[in-house]
Amino acid sequence: MDPANVRPELVSTLENSSIFEKNPEYKKALEVASIPERIIQFRVVWENDKGECQVNKGYRVQFNSALGPYKGGLRLHPTVNLSILKFLGFEQIFKNALTGLNMGGGKGGADFDPKGKSDNEIRKFCVSFMRELCKHIGPDTDVPAGDIGVGGREIGYMFGAYRAARNQWAGVLTGKGGSWGGSLIRPEATGYGLVYYVEHMIKYASGGKESFAGKRVAISGSGNVAQYAALKVIELGGIVISLSDSKGALIATDDKGFTPEHINNIAALKLERKALTDLENHTFKYIEGARPWKEVSKVDIALPSATQNEVSGEEAQALIDAGAKFIAEGSNMGCTQEAIDVFEAHRKEKKGDAIWYAPGKAANAGGVAVSGLEMAQNSARLKWTTEEVDEKLKGIMKACYENCLATAKEYVTPAEGEFPSLVAGANIAGFKKVAAAM
Ligand code: GLU
Repeated sequence: MDPANVRPELVSTLENSSIFEKNPEYKKALEVASIPERIIQFRVVWENDKGECQVNKGYRVQFNSALGPYKGGLRLHPTVNLSILKFLGFEQIFKNALTGLNMGGGKGGADFDPKGKSDNEIRKFCVSFMRELCKHIGPDTDVPAGDIGVGGREIGYMFGAYRAARNQWAGVLTGKGGSWGGSLIRPEATGYGLVYYVEHMIKYASGGKESFAGKRVAISGSGNVAQYAALKVIELGGIVISLSDSKGALIATDDKGFTPEHINNIAALKLERKALTDLENHTFKYIEGARPWKEVSKVDIALPSATQNEVSGEEAQALIDAGAKFIAEGSNMGCTQEAIDVFEAHRKEKKGDAIWYAPGKAANAGGVAVSGLEMAQNSARLKWTTEEVDEKLKGIMKACYENCLATAKEYVTPAEGEFPSLVAGANIAGFKKVAAAM
C-alpha cells in the first residue's frame, strides 16, 4: 500500500472492523486502490494584465474508475500540491461511492492564487489550464467540477475553452450555469446536503424528538458550502452563530445570529473578493487570526465548512466543553486526526451524551451527488426542476446516512447505548462498494 496517499484513520477503521475477516481479498484491493490509476502533471502558462508571462503547476489525479468516470473537484489555491491532491482524491473515491451513483474518484487543480486577480487574469488562467486538461477528460472519462477557488465563473471559462478546443458540447464539467447545462440546486447542494445529513443524526440521537429548531450552530468558512449550509439551518429554525474567512472569525453577538440577509450580503462581498471585515453591521465581532471553535459559547452543532485541518485536537475539546453534540464536516478532511480521536474517544466514553462526529466523505457528499445528477441530465439532454433535484438530494443523503449507520453496526458492533461510529461506517461502506467493483 502507498501510505503517502492514505489517511491512517481510514486504514485503522478498516483494520479494527470485521471487513477483512469477512472479505480477505479486500486487503489486496486496498493496496491496489491506494495508488492512483493515473496522474497528469502539466505547466500552465498565462499572461497577466501587465502583459507579463506567468507560470503555475497544474494537476489531475485520476484515482479510481471502478465505479464510473473519474469525478471530483478542481482546486485553485497557492497551497495546492500533488500530495494534498492525492489525499483528497483518495477520499473522493469513497465519498462518490457513498452517493450510490456511478462515479469514480479524482481530484485536480493548480497552485494558482485567484485572490487579487482580475476577471481577465482568471479567465486567461482557466483557458490555459483547460488547453492541457481537455486532452485527458471527457463525459465518460473524467468529469471535473469546482472546489476551493473554482465556482461557476471559473467552470464557465473552462467549459468554453473545452468546447473551443474539442469542437464538442459535452457534459465534461459539472457546476455549469443553469442556462448552459448546469443542474438546479448544484450551488446549494453541498451545504443543503450537509444539513440534511445532520438532521438524520439529530433525529436518531433524540429518538425523533428534536430537529435543528432552536439549535445554535457554529459554522466556519463563508464560501459556497458555508453560505448554503447557513441558509438551510436558518430555514429549519436553527441559529447560525459564526462564520469565518481565511483571516479571522465572525461571531454573532446577539441571540438571533445571522439572518438570510446577512448571508446574502456576505455572498455579494465574496463575489467582489472582499473580506468579511467589510460587512457593515454591529451585531457581529470579527476576531482576527481566529477560527470560530474557541470563540463560540453554548454550541449545539458545529459544521466546519472552510478547508482541510481546520479543527485541531484542542479545538475539538473546546467544542465539547461548549456543549456541542453534533459535528459534521462540510469541508474535506476538515478535522485533524487529533480532533477525530477526541470526538471518537468521547463517543465511546459518554455514550448517548457524547458528541457525534460525521466525516466529510459522507456529510458533504451532497455536492458531488448533484454533480452526478447533472451528468445524468446532460446525458439524457433534459433538465429536472428544483423540487425534483432537491428531493433526489434528500433521498441520497438519507440513504448515505442509513448506509453509514447500518455498516457501522454490522462491522464494528457498538457497545450498549453508544452511537455507532459514522467514521467507521462511512469508510467501510465506501470502501466495500469500491473493493467489490474492483
Ligand atoms: N469539490 C466537491 C467535493 O469535494 C465536488 C466535486 C464534484 O462535484 O465533482 O466533493
